[in-house]
Amino acid sequence: MELEANFSTEEACRAYLARLRWPTGFHCPRCGSQKAWRVRGLWECARCGCQSSVTAGTIFQDTRIPLPVWFRAMWWVTTQKNGASALGLQRVLELKKYKAAWMMLHKLRHAMVRPGRDLLTGRVEVDECYVGGLEEGLPGRLNLDKALVVVAAQEDGPGIGRIRLRQIVDASTESLMPFVQDSIAPGSVVHTDGWRGYLPLDSKGYKHDVTIVTRKKKTASELLPRVHRVVSLLKRWLIGTHQGAVSHKYLDYYLDEFTFRFNRRSSKSRGKLFFRLAQQAVAVDPFPYEQIVRPSSEKSKGKAQSVAAT
Ligand SMILES: [Zn+2]
Repeated sequence: MELEANFSTEEACRAYLARLRWPTGFHCPRCGSQKAWRVRGLWECARCGCQSSVTAGTIFQDTRIPLPVWFRAMWWVTTQKNGASALGLQRVLELKKYKAAWMMLHKLRHAMVRPGRDLLTGRVEVDECYVGGLEEGLPGRLNLDKALVVVAAQEDGPGIGRIRLRQIVDASTESLMPFVQDSIAPGSVVHTDGWRGYLPLDSKGYKHDVTIVTRKKKTASELLPRVHRVVSLLKRWLIGTHQGAVSHKYLDYYLDEFTFRFNRRSSKSRGKLFFRLAQQAVAVDPFPYEQIVRPSSEKSKGKAQSVAAT
């Protein structure tokens, strides 16, 4: 009710986004001037006359969907404990087209990856796991070909701190090292099994703690329990919320959403999650349809290589 009361108009939503995008006040993107007039939802620079929109250069750019509907979507996505499916969002927003809901969700997932987010520190478990194919011991079925996902899970006492996930083509050093370097701060302790793909960790500035899986009773999931707990939650989430209908092509987007939710799971305030998502939505670049369906960034490089390799 509070959301509906505060963000029922285009203008109210714009004002909120402007506060998030320009926390210290408006800055003209052309000349840097801080003085501007408001003209029909736009900011017109008092010095150079250039007009800017608060949504230009964000995920809301070129959208035909009214901002109040976007705000309702962000609220729905952040308040659902397990996240939303496109079908659920379409129903809640009463959208005529499924595709519109599907697009909004993918754009919001894109905003869940914070640009320049902090690296994991301290002691971090890292391991790769297969997701997809036939999953034993899980209700329902994951309609996804086997995909290799590498997971980094920060140790927090016996529990799990923050996590990072990425789909990779294989478990080679060339796939694993870039992930570790993008996810974990140098100087941290990286705990892995004895796989040789992790051998260069020492030379990359990490303290490498290796636990070798022997043929004794202990299994990989007991040696690296946090990573395996994360993977099992991920599988349950993909099956539960998305009915297992996740294709290889879009798996990275789902990993982003899962990471966003997991890393903020203890956040008591749903409002804070909404704030965070809105803040990131105006901080990331636009994510047009062509880019969603034909991922061309580093995210898809792995997939492209795997297609080439097979
Ligand atoms: Zn200007």
